[in-house]
Amino acid sequence: MSDAVLSLHHLHKRFGALHATNDVSLDLRPGEIHALIGPNGAGKSTLIGQIAGNIRPDEGSVHLAGTAITSMSVAQRARLGLGRSFQVSSLAEPLSVMRNVMMSVQALQGHSFRFFKRVSRDAALLEPAYQALEHMQLSHRAWTPVFELSHGERRQVEVACALALKPRALLLDEPMAGLGPEGSAKLTELLEVLKREVPILLIEHDMEAVFRLADRISVLVSGSVIAHGDSHTIKQDPRVREAYLGD
Ligand code: ADP
Ligand code: MG
Repeated sequence: MSDAVLSLHHLHKRFGALHATNDVSLDLRPGEIHALIGPNGAGKSTLIGQIAGNIRPDEGSVHLAGTAITSMSVAQRARLGLGRSFQVSSLAEPLSVMRNVMMSVQALQGHSFRFFKRVSRDAALLEPAYQALEHMQLSHRAWTPVFELSHGERRQVEVACALALKPRALLLDEPMAGLGPEGSAKLTELLEVLKREVPILLIEHDMEAVFRLADRISVLVSGSVIAHGDSHTIKQDPRVREAYLGD
């Protein structure tokens, strides 16, 4: 656990009688994609909420780069380097790709920019935004309005919005959802390269993408991690096949 960028220690969360997170410990290490899979209702979103700061655990702790973030706000965690994309898109359709990415950087930096002229503010935002778009192979679309993009390109913009904040760790919640084979192949290819820069905790239903991308997989069922290992190990695990793959 020592070189982990992000680590969860014995997390518990109850909703009334329901034990939605039951003693979950896992970590995310430099250079890797760690996939979290599990059937609907397994507790994946509840767990992500506890990492991102929307949900407070009843017990346990979350550390980012050695700092306990368990009682920090969503914004504090983001400033410390926790990047995330959302299941529901929040892109501004009429605005350019570049403007959308710049706005996400600005939102994090918050009110301090109130005192700057718009021009100097934009110059400071332009560079990280452009770099993030290059990482997502979208710099040629920088000045295109979002409504002209394909579904797959929008997803790439959403990842770029998180990337522009130069996160230490990235949480991606079902990034392949709704993408056709072409879109998910493209995103898979991009994430394979991206993980070298920033480790990724990936929640994903597309098992083909998971088995291709993940260095490690944790399987969540009824709030508990029932299996953990590399793609090969997880594919073979009889409990996983029964609980999740429908054997
Ligand atoms: P997943 O994302 O894996 O589908 P969730 O984390 O959304 O699972 O949900 C795990 C369980 O916790 C489900 O049984 C869900 O109904 C329940 N749950 C989630 N959020 C709440 C809440 N705010 N109040 C009560 N029950 C909840
Ligand atoms: Mg969910």
